[in-house]
Amino acid sequence: KKPHGKKQYAIIGLGRFGSSVAKYLAEMGYEVLAVDDNAQRVQDVAHTVTHAVAADSTDEEAMSSLGIRNFDVVVVAIGQDIQASILTTLILKDLGVPYIIVKAQNELHGKVLNKIGADKVVFPERDMGLRVAHHLISPNILDHIELSTDYSIVEMRLPSQMVGKNLKQLDIRLKYNCNVLAVKRSGEMNITPSADEPLIRDDILVIVGKNEQLTKLEQAHA
Ligand code: ADP
Repeated sequence: KKPHGKKQYAIIGLGRFGSSVAKYLAEMGYEVLAVDDNAQRVQDVAHTVTHAVAADSTDEEAMSSLGIRNFDVVVVAIGQDIQASILTTLILKDLGVPYIIVKAQNELHGKVLNKIGADKVVFPERDMGLRVAHHLISPNILDHIELSTDYSIVEMRLPSQMVGKNLKQLDIRLKYNCNVLAVKRSGEMNITPSADEPLIRDDILVIVGKNEQLTKLEQAHA
């Protein structure tokens, strides 16, 4: 299932954010080039992605020789080093990359990125903080319960892609190693959800799993 066609992605910067983007795209069957100037980081994702290369993204020649302009989307996930992030974005822009997504460290960084032509600027830490805060102040919605540092229960509104499918077809247990504990429908909690009954719009899934897997599941259906 390839919702965006057969696009090719390059991810530059393999910290927590970049490596998660790279791994997820690769798991979904997309062609992914992963780039970092830290050989260990490259090594860590090499088994997951299509190509993993150690290179400095602020080196225009290096980027050009990687054929970076042939990728449909390039994600710049360099967090700490704002100068490297900006230089990289400029170089990608000059090389004619059609779509550049950049992770910003703060608002000012984001402004600069927009000015120099980044197509999309994301603020993962800020956005996640806002989301958590938002759900914390909605007392009627059981959204996220930490069971331990690694495991949580989340309530997730049924993503549109899942409408009409049943739990057997979704196979969340195998795909994400998460367990659907309950399905809430029109305020009614069903703690023995049938695997065969189609889910409908506005259903809420109550899911237990490892945090990283739950995040993956959420991001896959954002
Ligand atoms: P996160 O917060 O997502 O973990 P980090 O800032 O910790 O992000 O990670 C950024 C990654 O980008 C690091 O792995 C770092 O080695 C890499 N990186 C930084 N500068 C460059 C560069 N000029 N070229 C390639 N990779 C870089």
